Amino acid sequence: MIELPEALNIAKQLQNTVAGKTVSRVLPPTKAHKFCWYSGEPTEYDEKIRGHGVHSAEGFGIFVELIFDNGQRLCINDGVNVRFSDVDDTNATKNYQLKVEFTDDTALVFTVAMYGGIIMHDGSYDNEYYRKSRNAFSPFSPGFESHFRKLVAESKPTLSAKAFLATEQRFPGIGNGVLQDILFAAQIHPKKKIGKLTDQEADNLLFAVVSVLREMTDLGGRDTEKDLFGNICGYETKMSRHTLAAGCPVCGGEIRKEAYLGGSVYYCPICQPIL
Ligand SMILES: [Zn+2]
Repeated sequence: MIELPEALNIAKQLQNTVAGKTVSRVLPPTKAHKFCWYSGEPTEYDEKIRGHGVHSAEGFGIFVELIFDNGQRLCINDGVNVRFSDVDDTNATKNYQLKVEFTDDTALVFTVAMYGGIIMHDGSYDNEYYRKSRNAFSPFSPGFESHFRKLVAESKPTLSAKAFLATEQRFPGIGNGVLQDILFAAQIHPKKKIGKLTDQEADNLLFAVVSVLREMTDLGGRDTEKDLFGNICGYETKMSRHTLAAGCPVCGGEIRKEAYLGGSVYYCPICQPIL
């Protein structure tokens, strides 16, 4: 699933790759996917953007959005993969949930693994997650520090560090992926209660959110994800399924993997003590 670093990177790649191209046609899904959502019928997407150019692309929170020169927007969320290819690329998947072809015989192919939304709209998409991602404070903006400190102060003391970062859309784009390395960098256990954080630990957490997301974004996303061209992204995760067997890069101890709050957490019990 893409999170903020991947959303920003894919938007950047889309901007550099398809901005200025003109849509020749839009192909509806090759077969129905039970958990792929559209706005209206995907067969209607063609008439909305055929003949129109891609103006730009944006990434925010867990969304990537293409903006067309007639004001239409094609928005995908974190469960949707988008790949760029030639129209007749034999390596491209034959099963997709949407395909947008351009007049220069290139294409964008959209697929959904578990669930996802591919939404065409004119700026009026009324979805809670979309709105919150759109209006989120960027962790790279100057106002983020005071926003973060306010949320720490307002949170229930019994809220865990993972729940603080990844639930209630406090920080759209921080999910169960990026939070592993953020908590590792801050040396905070995923289950540590917000009310038990020292001032120093709260500072460390703030610093880790900004610096780890910065590094992941600068390196084009995490190595557990793929980019617009199907290449593995450049940030090497420290706490993920990739590193579980290798052990903690700081102390060499065993990395723990546990199911917690709707997804596995990976942490080092020595570097990230619970108390
Ligand atoms: Zn360790």
